[in-house]
Formats: sequence, structure tokens, C-alpha cells
Amino acid sequence: MGRVTVRHEPTPAPRARAAESSPAREAIDAGIRETVEKAYEGSEWWRARLDDAGVDPSSVRGRADLPLLPFSTKQDLRDAYPLGWATIPHRDIRRVHASSGTTGKRTLCAYSARDLQDWADQFARCYRYAGVTEADKVQVMVGFGLWTAGSGFQAGAERVGATVVPTGPGNIELQLDMMRDLGTTTICATSSFALLIAEEIASRGMRDSLQLRRGIIGSERWGSGMRSRIDELLNIESFDIYGLTELYGPGVGIDCSRHDGIHVWSDYYVVEIIDPETLEPLPAGQEGEIVVTTLRKEAMPLIRYRTRDRSWLYEEPCSCGSPFPRIGRILGRTDDVVKVRGVAIAPAQVDSVLSTFEELGPEYQIRISRPDGRRDQVVVLVEGDGDASAGTVVAERLREAMGVRVEVEIVSYGTLPRSEGKSRRVVDERSPEDAGNVS
Ligand SMILES: [Zn+2]
Repeated sequence: MGRVTVRHEPTPAPRARAAESSPAREAIDAGIRETVEKAYEGSEWWRARLDDAGVDPSSVRGRADLPLLPFSTKQDLRDAYPLGWATIPHRDIRRVHASSGTTGKRTLCAYSARDLQDWADQFARCYRYAGVTEADKVQVMVGFGLWTAGSGFQAGAERVGATVVPTGPGNIELQLDMMRDLGTTTICATSSFALLIAEEIASRGMRDSLQLRRGIIGSERWGSGMRSRIDELLNIESFDIYGLTELYGPGVGIDCSRHDGIHVWSDYYVVEIIDPETLEPLPAGQEGEIVVTTLRKEAMPLIRYRTRDRSWLYEEPCSCGSPFPRIGRILGRTDDVVKVRGVAIAPAQVDSVLSTFEELGPEYQIRISRPDGRRDQVVVLVEGDGDASAGTVVAERLREAMGVRVEVEIVSYGTLPRSEGKSRRVVDERSPEDAGNVS
């Protein structure tokens, strides 16, 4: 597989940096107090939860009291369908979005007028961290409509003053036409779709007719192998944007030009990392589940919301000079960990091993089955140029990393399904009882 040298210039430090400062502790404390009060006063659903947990809102002073507050989960929000966790009168709701509902009943997320502004402001900050200015043309290749992605990417880019080209996902011919004819500099996509587009551009040899400089890639976990493949094929610098529908949507965090962790906007929400088993908060550096509490969100505030995303907190400030704290790039979700022969394995482990092999591509699939009804079998299908002997080496490295024996099948490029949305990494063919972890 040919490797192309990446020639892009390093992204300059965000221009708004001078005006930024991390919020003072008093501001965070005040935000937490307000959130709890608003939830208690504005929503019967929240009031019942806080009462059940024995929380008297007037006794909450701030950040130090977070551990006393009850957690909330996706299932809790589903139970409050459609708008039970809204804390403002319904006439003051300006917009409603929904999470995709791929893992169950969808949840609705409502926004006040100020929430929509706050979201655009956060998203604009993400774009600035990626070096986007008024001079850029931003092609938004993610879904519009009820899902949060498209409108967030559009509002943030408009706030920065860039030109938005809202193509939405799919329709490769249209994407390439717009890119070439308008001189798109920035693409926004899921990693799967960015790879699909990158491969298409490479196979048509049309890279030199394009002005692409950067990609803003989000909405699913993607490894460093996938990232370098996209960057190399398109000769761009890509940025990893973070978000979830319950917390505004995408745009609530992004990595900076150092590409070492994701900055999170601590003036809008507080991040804790907890042990998903014991629910105890974890210190910086330790991997666990991201839990968020909003500080300003009006229509649907979150109190200790368990995101199911796995990451860790950085202790030290970033060398880029940003005042905002960092979390590690998302390692996966607490629910994408599968148990095989009693051992918990995660797609992220496969990612990191595969990315060390030059001759392998970033697309892979983990197939788990129990052919004889007794013993789990794991087959990792990966695209690449290697022969069967290369597969043996990869299998050995995966066994070392994951602690279970796996078989590796190297298939030719383009064999595995390309997705316009999120790629399915794990195909568990066991019965739910066998897998023991299917919710
Ligand atoms: Zn930084």
C-alpha cells in the first residue's frame, strides 16, 4: 500500500484564543446550582428523581456536591419520552431533535432559543480550533433533519462566517461535483463516509483538482489507522469532533492541532469519569465512562448523565495554550465491549493493533460465533495486501493485546461494507443467552 507524505501546513493557533478563559470555580458552582434548581422547579420527572435520591436543591453548593447527585441514563431519558425531562414551558421550546434510536426507543431533545445559540457558539469554537475562518467553504456531508448533526455543523460554520455547502450524506457524484466546482476546503463527515469519499477521490485521481485542507470527523469512534488513511488519501488534516444528542449534539468538544486529546468546553458542562461498575469517580488518567452535567442548558439540562462513552481525563493543560481541559479520544462505548470466553474485548484494541501494520487498511469487522455450541470463536476480517502468513502475525499480536485467541482473515480492499453512517465493527452471531451481554 503506497504511503503519501502529508504536506499540509500546521494549523495556526485558534484566533479567538486570547478571548478565552476557563470558567472560574465560582461560575461552575453557580451553574450546577442553577441546573439542579431548574430541574427541580421545572420538571416533575426531575423532581421525583432528586426527591428519590434525597437531594434538597437548596443544599447543593456546587461542584463538590456532584457525587451526592443521582446519575441519569439513556434509559431514564427514554422513560421520560417525549418531553418529560424538559424544564421550560413547551411554548418556549424552539426546536426538537432526536437521537437515532439505533439501540432502542429514540429520545427527544428540546432546545430553548438560548440553547440553540449556545450550541452554535460551542460549534464555532470547534471550527476555530480546526483553523476554519471566513475564507473557508465547509461541505457538510452528515444527516440533516430530525438528527442533530447537520444543523449543528451548519450553524457553527455560519457563526464562524464560513460558506456552508449542506450536501448531506450519500450521493457521491454530487459531493465530488460540489467539492470541485466550489473549491470546498473543509469536509464534515462520519469517519466511514470520509473514508468512502477519500477512496473514491483517490481511485479517480482527482485529488489535485480539489482545494481540500481539513476534515471535521465525528459521530463514531475511529482509530488512528482510519484517521491516517483518510488524511493520507486526501492530504488533509482531520479533527476529531465530539458530541451527543442529549448534550446539544456534535460540537461540544474537538481536538486541537496538537491532536493529543479532545478539548471539552467546561464553561458549558462538567465532565466526570466514573468506573461504570462501581460508579465511583476516577482520577485523571484512569479510563472509565464519561459523565456530564450541564451548566447553562435551559430546555433539557443534564445531571450526571452517563454517556456510555469511554475515555479518561488529562491532568496537565494542553501545550496549545487552550484553557479548556482535555479528555482522551473516545475509546469506544461501555456497551460495545463484548465478552468472549469470559474476557471483555473492545473494538479499540483491534484498532490499535491493526494500525501498526502498514499493509493493512483501517476497515475491519470482528465476527463472534459459537460454531460448536460450546466455545466462542473470534474471527477478525481486515482489508489489506498481506498473505496468510501476515495473518498469523496479526493474530498473534491481537492475542497478546486482547488476551483471547482470534483468527485473522485478510480480505482484499473494498470487500468489507462501506457505510454512509456508522460502521458496524462487531457482528455477534451468538444467541443472546450465549453472549450474555446483549441488553
Ligand atoms: Zn490543545
